[in-house]
Amino acid sequence: MARMSRADNAPQGFAPPLGDMSIEEFRRYGHQLVDWIGDYFASLDERPVLAQIEPGDLIKQLPTAPPEHGEPMAAILADVDRLIVPALTNWHHPSFFAYFATSTSAPGIFGELLCAAFDVKALLWRAAPAATELEEVVLRWLRQLIGLPETFGGIIYDTASVSSMHALAAAREHVNLRIREDGMSGRVDLPLLRIYSSEQAHSSIEKGVLTLGFGQRALRKIPADAEFRMQPGALAHAIAEDKQQGFVPCAIVATVGTTSTSSIDPVPAIADICTRENIWLHVDAAYAGSAAVVPELRPVVMAACERADSFTLNPHKWLFTPFDLSVLYCRRMDVLHRAFSLVPEYLRAPQAERETVTNHSEYGIQLGRRFRALKLWFILRYFGHEGLAARIREHCRLAQLFAAWVDAAPLWERLAPVPLSLVCFRACPQRANESEADAAARLDALNEQLMHALNASGAAFLSHTKLNDKFTLRLSIGNINTTEVHVRRMWELLHEHLARLSAR
Ligand code: PLP
Repeated sequence: MARMSRADNAPQGFAPPLGDMSIEEFRRYGHQLVDWIGDYFASLDERPVLAQIEPGDLIKQLPTAPPEHGEPMAAILADVDRLIVPALTNWHHPSFFAYFATSTSAPGIFGELLCAAFDVKALLWRAAPAATELEEVVLRWLRQLIGLPETFGGIIYDTASVSSMHALAAAREHVNLRIREDGMSGRVDLPLLRIYSSEQAHSSIEKGVLTLGFGQRALRKIPADAEFRMQPGALAHAIAEDKQQGFVPCAIVATVGTTSTSSIDPVPAIADICTRENIWLHVDAAYAGSAAVVPELRPVVMAACERADSFTLNPHKWLFTPFDLSVLYCRRMDVLHRAFSLVPEYLRAPQAERETVTNHSEYGIQLGRRFRALKLWFILRYFGHEGLAARIREHCRLAQLFAAWVDAAPLWERLAPVPLSLVCFRACPQRANESEADAAARLDALNEQLMHALNASGAAFLSHTKLNDKFTLRLSIGNINTTEVHVRRMWELLHEHLARLSAR
């Protein structure tokens, strides 16, 4: 792999003239950097997935104080090679199967590069007309691709955690208890506001609850069924019980594609409850929402989602978009606006402009906003609907293939259904004359060791969860370059590591 220029040759006392780097230098290093990225991508298969360093290793190698004088670009780039790359866990590696495996893509990187070059801050339409209008267009396209009706407006935030937090803020505004004006503290007239999610919901929902000052006791976690989906009966019962106590149901969060297993909450039944009780329905489809671009998967992930008040999906998870880009679609943009709009004099645009444009900063906590729409525009155009659908469909096929291998193997078992591209499984070699408790503890320890050994080898990266108290391995397929070869190799590696551990 081509290495970047060596730092050793750096001239002493380098002092760039006032102003930015010269255009000539910019071009030279820019070309060098793009070549370097090409080499990095081409060599990923031979690199370890998980960083092979110990905590603190990078800090130890870096100066404790900033440089007094400027340093040549060559020295900085050389240190990327020498110090940064070895400290990377390579998310773009095709054998990255941990968490929700995600990846960037070349068109996305180009969009990100231009975003940094333009460096607009989309605080108002006039400050960034291209960013403001492209966001509208790209979100309209994406909405069509996933099949949400045009009654939904949309906005881009950084992450699903932030999207869901904004959705909960809109839900809180919707209950009409003057919280915008009077807040939630020092009030005797404010009953407990309840947020409901399944026990399998992502922790970001609870963080949103914390951030907005609802308090942890406001979140009621509804039990899930044997397939890790929220039980609508238990939800209805919880709401009735809460109302009897004088609590005010504020929002229900359904998850389409839970983090542990990718289970899909029964949105149609949950939407019925929301309609009946007039409760805000937020759908967290951070991971699975992208699957709706695949025509045959759309009914699986989008059933009744058009009845949600808000819906989030993360193109940075499964739409090959460089981190970060999360989308919140909302049927009640007026309510979101009411929750967040605050325009000081110094940001007031002429009335005629205000009446014709959307100022996205009035729909969230951020004033300045990045031009994130650009990279998504590049991606939607470069791959097209068909190209995106083909890639996601292939990931789901690979997951089914892996699940079939697990199902057919006597020493392994699958621990959850596989609706999309995530497989939950574990090794389960049996021993004669072992109590149930001993077997449970042994298998937990075995699978944990297996995961750590495999990850430490650098050959692939898996993560885990706990399902029904069992230590569960998760294989998530979402990298744009993952092929059947990588998945097959992963299966072989699991066998090799299991055999090694069993032999000990
Ligand atoms: N919601 C779900 C279902 C998730 O799986 C995740 C992350 O994996 C999140 C929300 C949080 O995503 P983000 O990192 O964009 O905040």
